[in-house]
Amino acid sequence: MRRPKICLLFCGGTIGMVKNAKTGAMQPASNVSEIIQIFPEIQKYMQLDFKMIVNIDSSDMSPQIWTKLATAIHQLYDKYDGFVVAHGTDTMAYTASALSYALQNLSKPIVFTGSLIPLNEIGSDGRNNLTYACLTATQDIAEICIVIGNRIIRANRAKKYHESIVAVFHSPNFPYLGELGRPIMLNEWRKKRRKRALKFAPKFDSNISVLKIFPGFDPYIIENVLRRNAHGLILESFGPGNVPIQDNSLIPNIEKAIKAGIPVIIANQMEKGVTNLTAYQGGYQALKAGAISSRDMTIEATVTKLMWALGHTRKIPEIAKIMDTDLAGEIADPNFGKANQTA
Ligand code: ASP
Repeated sequence: MRRPKICLLFCGGTIGMVKNAKTGAMQPASNVSEIIQIFPEIQKYMQLDFKMIVNIDSSDMSPQIWTKLATAIHQLYDKYDGFVVAHGTDTMAYTASALSYALQNLSKPIVFTGSLIPLNEIGSDGRNNLTYACLTATQDIAEICIVIGNRIIRANRAKKYHESIVAVFHSPNFPYLGELGRPIMLNEWRKKRRKRALKFAPKFDSNISVLKIFPGFDPYIIENVLRRNAHGLILESFGPGNVPIQDNSLIPNIEKAIKAGIPVIIANQMEKGVTNLTAYQGGYQALKAGAISSRDMTIEATVTKLMWALGHTRKIPEIAKIMDTDLAGEIADPNFGKANQTA
C-alpha cells in the first residue's frame, strides 16, 4: 500500500528552541534541522518531507508570514495528502484561523502542532505532539485543526487556555473533531476528505484596532483610532455585546467611525460566550448605529477574519456580509446538530 505523503512546514515556537546559556531564556535554535530529527519510526507509516518557513517565537508572527505559509501550502497542495505546521502555541490560534480563510474549501487536513518543552529536552511533549499531528494529517479530515495532546480541535474554534503540557488549547464553542487514542476517534461533524476546488485568498489588512471596554472606558479613544486611519475596529464589550450608554458618548463615537467608513465589530469578553446585540439596550443601540456582531467566534477568529475581509474589500456592507458568513466553520451553523456536516 502507498504510504501517505505528508509535508511538515516549520514556523518555529518552543518545539525548535534551545536555552540561552547565559540568560536561561528560550530562543529559536540556529539550526533547526538538527533539532527536528524526523523519527525513523514515523517513516514506516508515511513519507514525511520537511520545509522551513521561519524559525521564530510565535509572538513575532505576522500577516506577511501567514501569507508566506499559505502560499507554500498552496504551491505544494497537490503533491501531499496532508500538511503539518509546527508553530509556537502563543499565537497558533491566530495563524491557524487566518489560514482557514486564506485556504478555504480544503480536500485534505492541515494540522498545527507545537510543544511547551523543546524537542531536544528530556520529557518534551514535542515528540508526541508531532507524531499525533502527523497521524492526524493522514486521517479522513479536510480542515485546519490543532493537535496538542490527544485532542483534534477545529483551528478557528481553538483558544490557548493553559500552559500545561497536556491540554494547551480548548474549544469553548464547538465540540472536538476527534481524539487520538486506540483507536483514533473522529467525530461525524468534522469536514471529510473529498475533491473540492481550493479557494486560495491569502491577503490580509492588519491595519485594525482592538479595544477592550472596561468600566470607566474613555470612548474618545475611538477618535484616536480614526485619527490613526485604522481600517477596522473591534470592541470587546461586556456580556453578550453590551456597551455603556448612560453618558451618551460611546454610541456617537461608533456612529462616527462607521460614517468614516470604518467597520465596527462588537465582540465579547466571555470565555464561552456568544455576542447577541439584541439582548440589552447597549448592544441594541450599537447594532442600530451599524455595528456588526462577532456572534460565537473566538477573538482570534474574529481578528483574523476582519483582517482577511479588509484584505478584499473596504465596503462596510460587504465586510458585514463576510463577518456574518460561515467561511470555514468558525461561526455557528444554524443546522449544526440537525444533520451531520458533510459539506
Ligand atoms: N513562546 C512560544 C511561542 O509561541 C510558546 C510555544 O511555542 O508554545 O513561540
